Amino acid sequence: MSTTTESISTNLSLPLVPANVIDQSLTISPPQYAGKQLIETIQTWVEKQGRHWPPELTSEVLAKNLITVYLPYWVIQVNGSGHWTASVGVDRKVPERCGTCNGKGVYTPVWANSEQRCDRCGGSGQDLVNKTFWGSQSGIVSAEVGGDVAENFDTDILKLRGKRDFSAPESRLEQTNANLYQIIRPLKTNAASSQGVAEATLKKNLADKAGTTAGKLGDYVKDLDIAYVQIDQFKARIWLYPLIIGYYSHDDEPTLLVQVDGITGEVYGEAPRGVKDKRQRDAIMYGLIALVVIAIIVVVILARPQ
Ligand SMILES: [Zn+2]
Repeated sequence: MSTTTESISTNLSLPLVPANVIDQSLTISPPQYAGKQLIETIQTWVEKQGRHWPPELTSEVLAKNLITVYLPYWVIQVNGSGHWTASVGVDRKVPERCGTCNGKGVYTPVWANSEQRCDRCGGSGQDLVNKTFWGSQSGIVSAEVGGDVAENFDTDILKLRGKRDFSAPESRLEQTNANLYQIIRPLKTNAASSQGVAEATLKKNLADKAGTTAGKLGDYVKDLDIAYVQIDQFKARIWLYPLIIGYYSHDDEPTLLVQVDGITGEVYGEAPRGVKDKRQRDAIMYGLIALVVIAIIVVVILARPQ
């Protein structure tokens, strides 16, 4: 894998590499927002930013340095099996010395009110209490995973926001065109690591299924473990998901992030520090006003003639 790091603005660099560094089967979802539509999406976001948003920070300004990059995800198809073990708990009612009468079983018919009766045990001196009995269970479980999606990038490298739409249409990306697409550097791309991801995906699904099976055997399940995972078949591909991203500067802050999910159109924009401060002051002021209003209401209610 190449170690090229390209800068999308002069102020901050992201670990970007061309998509042809990936030697796995590749699919790509083209961004559904570009040009005028992209500006409109950001415009809607700007309109929601409230009265402190600087008027000079228009959607055109925010969209100025945006570029499209792609987030690499694993898409895994796998089937196989494993051996599970778990502790399964069952609740039973067992007789225990009554705590109310100390096991003495005091009972006197209600009409003879000189002595107390024990309502808890009804005079037997024993009380039925819930007790959980644990036992170990095990079995073989198999699972078939149709197309689980897993991140293949370091999420700390940028402030990732929002829920991605994993049902976005995708198409095959030929290696000959792959150098045209800039992607966030994937964590792993080789065949061995794809098998590792497939195994982890299978194991997670086996655990889910084993949990359901074990759950039917009792009231509680703990210490569920899957061992001897066997992959019968797997396919892994890397899916490139579009993210439109860039930075703008305002006052003395040179790197404020703007990003648009290329499929859902969800915008995340960082507000300048001045705007954040003013919003905070507003929140404190409104909080104080609310307290004063509550105090006045309380005073009015208390002063009301009875
Ligand atoms: Zn009792």
